[in-house]
Amino acid sequence: MSRTTVCALSPKQNNTDVAIIGGGPAGLAAAIALQKKGIECTVVEALEPPIDKGCGEGLMPDALHSLKELGIEITEEEGYPFQGIRFATSADRVDAEFPNGTGIGVRRTHLHQRMSHRAREVGVTLAWRSHATLSSGGRLLINGAEMRYRWLIGADGTASQVRKWAGLDEERFYSQRFGFRRHYQIAPWGKYVEVHWGRLVSYTSPLSRVTACASY
Ligand SMILES: Cc1cc2nc3c(=O)[nH]c(=O)nc-3n(C[C@H](O)[C@H](O)[C@H](O)COP(=O)(O)OP(=O)(O)OC[C@H]3O[C@@H](n4cnc5c(N)ncnc54)[C@H](O)[C@@H]3O)c2cc1C
Repeated sequence: MSRTTVCALSPKQNNTDVAIIGGGPAGLAAAIALQKKGIECTVVEALEPPIDKGCGEGLMPDALHSLKELGIEITEEEGYPFQGIRFATSADRVDAEFPNGTGIGVRRTHLHQRMSHRAREVGVTLAWRSHATLSSGGRLLINGAEMRYRWLIGADGTASQVRKWAGLDEERFYSQRFGFRRHYQIAPWGKYVEVHWGRLVSYTSPLSRVTACASY
């Protein structure tokens, strides 16, 4: 698949209606939705696609529906369908089927690739390998150069600097959590994402040919 890499923004690109810090699923979804309404967006992302992440990789029916609205249709051939969630302890288990369709387990890198392609297709300016910093007065620096914006979206993940800068962190309750994910070359064995409660909360998502196991 081809890649889009814009490392240095031109002077024109250094002015934008909406600057979005973070090019993960949230930042790209916001950019596509706004750009489709004619609002010019620039996504500034420190990494380069396809971006991977510790994540169980299960997309629920609502996520698939929202992606479709953005113009991204994920088909069952791109991953592995699942019908609901199974919660299990060593003694008990309960299954809950989705009332509104099917989920799909899909590699995170594939989802990211599809979203970044769509963002480029609708005309979002994508600044990969670009680090954003905010200084006093809301000045936004991209790799040291100032970017002017009318609106700023912080889509910079759980340790968001934008949230801190905006003072939205004050009421936040901190608890430290660790998450990790492995892929196992085991054919998917069932029709559910399985959540196993024990000393860790672990869950498995069926993907195409492999199974993702994520734990907290
Ligand atoms: C173990 C585990 C399992 C999970 N399982 C699932 C699952 O099955 N299904 C599901 O839907 N979700 C799952 N999630 C949650 C999912 O990964 C997150 O909800 C999702 O990644 C959040 O997307 P985001 O775009 O908000 O943030 P992120 O994906 O974290 O993206 C933020 C981006 O901002 C960039 N960034 C940060 N600061 C800067 C900066 N200053 N300048 C430039 N770029 C910056 C980062 O490089 C990063 O790419 C799981 C998470 C974990 C930890």
